[in-house]
Amino acid sequence: MCYDLSKYHDIILNFVPCGDVITTLSVTIYYLILQFFIMKFILENSNKVRFGKICSLSRSPNLELETPVLLVNTKAGSVMHLSHEVLMKIDGPIQCLQVPLSNSAKCYEGVRGFKKGIMEFAGMKGFLSYCSVHDPAEKLTKGKNEKEQISVNTCNGRIYITVQRYMEIMEAFQPDMYEALSDGYNDSNSSNRRLCKSSANSMSYFDECMRIHEKSKILKQTPVFGVIEGGHNLIYKEKIISHLLGNPNVCGFVISGLHSNGPDVEKLCFSSIESVVHQTLKLLPDDRVKVIHGCFRPEVVVRLIELGIDIFDSSLVDIVTNRGSAFVFGWEAVDKKTTMVNGNTEGDRDKSVENELQSYKLEISLGDKIYFDDFGPLLQGCSCLACQKHTRAYIHHLFVTKEMLGPVLLMIHNLHHYLSFFAFIRKTVRDGHRVGII
Ligand SMILES: [Zn+2]
Repeated sequence: MCYDLSKYHDIILNFVPCGDVITTLSVTIYYLILQFFIMKFILENSNKVRFGKICSLSRSPNLELETPVLLVNTKAGSVMHLSHEVLMKIDGPIQCLQVPLSNSAKCYEGVRGFKKGIMEFAGMKGFLSYCSVHDPAEKLTKGKNEKEQISVNTCNGRIYITVQRYMEIMEAFQPDMYEALSDGYNDSNSSNRRLCKSSANSMSYFDECMRIHEKSKILKQTPVFGVIEGGHNLIYKEKIISHLLGNPNVCGFVISGLHSNGPDVEKLCFSSIESVVHQTLKLLPDDRVKVIHGCFRPEVVVRLIELGIDIFDSSLVDIVTNRGSAFVFGWEAVDKKTTMVNGNTEGDRDKSVENELQSYKLEISLGDKIYFDDFGPLLQGCSCLACQKHTRAYIHHLFVTKEMLGPVLLMIHNLHHYLSFFAFIRKTVRDGHRVGII
């Protein structure tokens, strides 16, 4: 069935009273109708570990995202080290690509002239796309954000982007989903003054983004995600959430301000973010999508999914590949009702599992000379192209001689492995089990 979404949106907009007379009921009705025509999030289980699917995306109504979902990170619309042909051979499956503004803004003029969006421009036609502001694989270095514009680190240096320009870029990129602009320079170490300014800027950017969004013929049917900055401070987070909830066009939320991106996120243990994520989630409606960015280790990802996060990104894959390593961690289904860890029963279990998970081996470094004469695959039993055709010794040789094929083979393995991990999580939580890392 085909809908004229533009016509429906105009009807909806005319239906809802404006300004002070807007009622809670009409906002609810408006939101439900928008959900039906712009994006649907079907939560199939909210009692235990949540899972569901995102569907009816206005640009790609025939595609669905099963949650928890992994966004595959890109640089200027392409997956690092991989051509489109190789990417298509990776068994995963890949559900959606993430396009960070920080590495794709340089393509703006070309994409605008091309007129078919960033995915077709980058040769990635057929993939769903999600636009974010920053690349979670790259550490944020502080810039001067003003009320009218933010600073963004790019590979060509720092650029300044106004809300108007950001929305022009979104119009040219034509993503399936995108984040509203926010002031992302805040984390657990930020001063109160920085948090205050970041929150005020973010709410101001959000209002301006939505004003342009609602008038834009290209964007008005595209799902928008509101970004919750405010570091680890729940007072600022609550204030921003209350502001975002006032706009029914917000289809999901990004819990930001937990860290400053880049490899340091790997060092974060679950206990350092558990409370702020848990308290933030309690302030958000159950039926909307929740996103967290960053290269968290697998055991932290599992715990965040158990808390209620639906969308993650593959920045850990980029970071592990760039340091010349291959994933070797494994996973298993853990039956919550019957498993005992070290003789402990259910009451002690959470703590025991977390301690146990942190002792597993995440990766091997292929530059290490111990792989000189290792003729086994990167990971025994892995079905990826790299493991089927090549040995650790050969990939070690590629790294020693600085051949470009080395990172390509590692990326093939690491992406396949991490996508398989997410596919396993989806299946396991649907079966009612927890996931353990081994
Ligand atoms: Zn492999």
